[in-house]
Amino acid sequence: MKVEQFRADLRAWLDDNDLTPGPDRSLQGHMRQLARVHRALYDADWMRYGWPVEVGGLGGPAILRAVVGEEVVGRGLAEPGPYSMLEVLAPTMIDYAPKELAAEMVPRLLSGREQWCQGFSEPGSGSDLASLSTRAVPEGDDWIVNGQKVWTSFAQYSTRCILLTRTAPGHAGITAFFVDMDTPGITVRPLRTMHGVDEFCEVYFDDVVIPGDRMLGQPGDGWRLAMDLLPYERSTCFWQRIAYLYARFDRLIAEATNADDSALGAAFLALHTLRCRSRATLHRLADGARLGPETSIDKVLLAGAEQRLYDTARDLLPGVVELDKCQWRTEYLYSRAATIYGGTAEIQRNIIARRLLDLGKE
Ligand SMILES: Cc1cc2nc3c(=O)[nH]c(=O)nc-3n(C[C@H](O)[C@H](O)[C@H](O)COP(=O)(O)OP(=O)(O)OC[C@H]3O[C@@H](n4cnc5c(N)ncnc54)[C@H](O)[C@@H]3O)c2cc1C
Repeated sequence: MKVEQFRADLRAWLDDNDLTPGPDRSLQGHMRQLARVHRALYDADWMRYGWPVEVGGLGGPAILRAVVGEEVVGRGLAEPGPYSMLEVLAPTMIDYAPKELAAEMVPRLLSGREQWCQGFSEPGSGSDLASLSTRAVPEGDDWIVNGQKVWTSFAQYSTRCILLTRTAPGHAGITAFFVDMDTPGITVRPLRTMHGVDEFCEVYFDDVVIPGDRMLGQPGDGWRLAMDLLPYERSTCFWQRIAYLYARFDRLIAEATNADDSALGAAFLALHTLRCRSRATLHRLADGARLGPETSIDKVLLAGAEQRLYDTARDLLPGVVELDKCQWRTEYLYSRAATIYGGTAEIQRNIIARRLLDLGKE
């Protein structure tokens, strides 16, 4: 199917099927709305394009699901953060889970019946993820997990978690599991962020029993899994976030009536540069390229463009960020996290310097 025809048909369907969010702007409201949108789009097949037939999809290039994300998030039907979890976690399941498990579970995520989370970071292991210490020890056919994760987005709404554990020393000693969040021994404690939302959580594991057939890949494949996940996060997933930022830019133009055009122009330039870069990345993905460290450039551009947009809103709409309890304020505060989540700006620049520009260590 031609991408432009797909987009036109999807737009017509979205025009005819009203999925506008209700007034509840709490995180719980966003999560309910996300499930509603996923279900409606899955039932009408849109959410199945670009996913393999073996996991309930209808096949076709990943670019089709980027188009779905762009339309859904760009129209404000779902929040970019929760929506993006799909792009981060479903490809990982497809690539690493036993075939029957992926076939059973991925449709639940696509159809909005379930939300999943990503249990990678720990209190002492964020940028240095390879130092993680949540331990998994074999016992018969099972594995016993003990440890703590942190910054686990939407864990309190999740039925499953893609979890990284330590099974042996070093990078080759990291093993991934697909864990049911209602397993005895798992405790989830939401954390309040500075933008006033309990978006992420601490997750504790105390003698949690995970069946051996829930391992993703082989023992020691966890590091490769984590590295393979990043390019998805930085392609289809970024594309829908960019659509959201464009929609907010349009809103800014509408609200900043006496604006200085050069400030708006600089914000647009950053957004447009990002979109051009991301478009090229998506096309490389569609052509079957294996994405790697060059997606660190996309991450640096995304964080820069997002922060510039909200800095511009702060400058052009005086007091709105500082004094009003409004969407601009919440999003301005959240934009500060753009240089942290999915790999910090400093780490991305290190990767660009060492692996792309071959500049060596500091
Ligand atoms: C909104 C949000 C959502 C998140 N969601 C999830 C999630 O769902 N699941 C999950 O597992 N994690 C999640 N994270 C965690 C995220 O992946 C980590 O915050 C990130 O990897 C950074 O790790 P850290 O917070 O431990 O910071 P640290 O690694 O401790 O870094 C602290 C500072 O030191 C700098 N620094 C560290 N090492 C170096 C170095 N070698 N050279 C130069 N500078 C360095 C960093 O750039 C940073 O400025 C989320 C984070 C945010 C903000």
